[in-house]
Amino acid sequence: MSQVSPNVQWELGEVTLGLREKLNGHPALVVWLTGLSASGKSTLAKVAEQRLFEDETAVARLDGDNVRHGLCGDLGFSTEDRNENIRRVAEVAAILYELGHVVICAFISPFAAERTFARSLVPEGRFLEVYVKCDLSECKRRDPRGLYAKAERGEITGFTGVDAAYEEPTNAELVVDTGLLDVDATAEILLGAIAGRLSESTAITTGSGATLAGGRASTNSDAAKPGPAGRWQ
Ligand code: ADP
Repeated sequence: MSQVSPNVQWELGEVTLGLREKLNGHPALVVWLTGLSASGKSTLAKVAEQRLFEDETAVARLDGDNVRHGLCGDLGFSTEDRNENIRRVAEVAAILYELGHVVICAFISPFAAERTFARSLVPEGRFLEVYVKCDLSECKRRDPRGLYAKAERGEITGFTGVDAAYEEPTNAELVVDTGLLDVDATAEILLGAIAGRLSESTAITTGSGATLAGGRASTNSDAAKPGPAGRWQ
């Protein structure tokens, strides 16, 4: 959805992302966990959120099941609805990013294009895509909510891994195999990758030199769709 109403413009505040990052003492970041149902996204997101919170990080968590109770409660699991689901949550993640948070997102997000879109909403270097990898057979064995069993009985249709595709990431910054490692070991790897990003300079958001990995970089001259120099001060 690229349409913007003609008389709408981006309102910049005095409290910039740079100021928020300075107050928080760390840069903002979007951590995007993708993987099959039951691969461990929610589990890892919750552990990471708790650990970051304990370390006084400004952290927020978005979870696929939670957003479907409200923000995306009107959406199903058709390809069109899945895309709209990710479009909305990616925009929410970008808003939380703009407010200085480390935003941990746990979404199956099966299509490469929707992950690329989510990545495009924040500056390069501020999106950590994590492929929470797990063999389909192991996910089916875990089946914590019985969803695979239901899908295989035909009681759920369009279920990723059963009768809907999952496009494996090819450019994830981190791949963790939860079939090989336990929760604690996997969480340590994830937290290490996040800590690495948080220890990097915050300079990326303070000038016009920030670059975007995706579409919005080219819209910088359009006040309705600000690029990094406008939206990320
Ligand atoms: P998802 O959010 O991807 O659907 P969940 O986190 O809800 O998956 O469920 C994953 C299940 O797998 C949980 O029961 C969790 O305890 C288990 N599990 C086993 N090993 C791991 C691991 N290394 N990381 C995360 N979860 C794991």
